[in-house]
Amino acid sequence: MGSRSPRPARPIRSGRYPAKELCSQCGLCDTRYVAHVKEACAFLDQQLTQLEEQTHGRSRESLRSGSLAVTDTDYFGVYEAMYTARKRDPIPGAQWTGIVSSIGMKALTTGLVEGVVCVQADERDRFQPRPILARTPEAVWAARVNKPTLSPNLSVLEQVEQSGLKRLLVIGVGCQIQALRAVEKKLGLEKLYVLGTPCVDNVSRAGLQKFLETTSRSPQTVVHYEFMQDFHIHFKHEDGSVEKVPFFGLKTKELKDVFAPSCLSCFDYVNALADLVVGYMGSPLGWQWLLVRNQRGQELLDLVWEELETQPVISQGSRRAAVQQGIPAYDQALTLPMWLAQIMGAVIERFGPRGLEYARFSIDSHFTRNYLYVRRHYPHKLEQHVPPFARRIVEQYQLPQD
Ligand SMILES: Cc1cc2nc3c(=O)[nH]c(=O)nc-3n(C[C@H](O)[C@H](O)[C@H](O)COP(=O)(O)OP(=O)(O)OC[C@H]3O[C@@H](n4cnc5c(N)ncnc54)[C@H](O)[C@@H]3O)c2cc1C
Repeated sequence: MGSRSPRPARPIRSGRYPAKELCSQCGLCDTRYVAHVKEACAFLDQQLTQLEEQTHGRSRESLRSGSLAVTDTDYFGVYEAMYTARKRDPIPGAQWTGIVSSIGMKALTTGLVEGVVCVQADERDRFQPRPILARTPEAVWAARVNKPTLSPNLSVLEQVEQSGLKRLLVIGVGCQIQALRAVEKKLGLEKLYVLGTPCVDNVSRAGLQKFLETTSRSPQTVVHYEFMQDFHIHFKHEDGSVEKVPFFGLKTKELKDVFAPSCLSCFDYVNALADLVVGYMGSPLGWQWLLVRNQRGQELLDLVWEELETQPVISQGSRRAAVQQGIPAYDQALTLPMWLAQIMGAVIERFGPRGLEYARFSIDSHFTRNYLYVRRHYPHKLEQHVPPFARRIVEQYQLPQD
């Protein structure tokens, strides 16, 4: 499987995809559930608060105590428990240690569900997503590792209906899960489990190519990459080598238009509507970060609990100055010379925010950037589209007035 001949990204035809250029290609509009797109699409009708109530029986807003302070619930969404964990026996080729794939496989072998919506890769291009309804653990295994491109996961919802299965697990990112929650009751399921990952800065397939060519020393051999907690992007190559590029060395000017407009307008970084979230950014390097949002999420986690080692969740350092300084730097597309970027990367890795404070750093940086993006490009949407918790987070910073 190689990445040399990417297929062109699926064109967004405005007639078919009502969110137009803001479409995140979640796949809903490729099914008959397109009939519900006006209420379901995260970019046409942002309704996180209502959907949190529907899913978890409480929302970030209902949990507020009246104080004006920004809380951890504002940052991380509704949750019952949070863990730092990793698999004792990691899955080779997974994005991290393979907790997500392990849960997907166990959910099938234990009979908790009859099918798993996940995303394999096109056999000619490892980064081109191919959503599937997996009925066997082998098919879930084959879906391991991120496809760092917009993926129409919900396009298989009609297959779910046709197959007549009643218990389903869906693995997906925030925009896919918001649309799924909005149509959940129409799917005829007896039980739906949702395993989410955080997601930020996704790209079209063409955008990914530009990102790799602008940033990596060998774009054609990249197997996977991640923006890591040590303030470097880690590119893993086919020969097993890891290339580290400091965030501060990114060619911001060339990359500003690479991210999808949907991702530049997204405020659901932490996948608020999933039952269980598995990411990394609230945990130290090498560990995964787990948020159990409700009882179904606990059931999912119980499937693999014995296979995990855990350690306490930590929060160290202070993000505030770094976030504030990053706002004009990004806005003016400043790029440091690589030697200086390397030094800054090393210093901030040593003394910068860690654990949950790193997660807050990343959320603050993206929400301030995205707030400015929506204010500048879709001012008429600002009021409805930015959820109250995101406003509270953004209001901690001084933004350019323009
Ligand atoms: C585009 C993207 C951006 C992310 N950004 C962050 C981040 O900023 N911070 C953070 O903490 N975590 C982020 N994550 C989650 C993180 O990278 C890992 O996916 C997660 O920790 C699970 O690792 P794992 O080894 O358990 O996954 P694996 O066992 O390797 O399984 C990965 C699962 O992801 C699914 N998947 C792959 N690509 C996509 C896609 N494009 N859309 C939907 N589902 C997909 C597959 O179906 C597979 O089941 C992101 C994930 C994606 C897909």
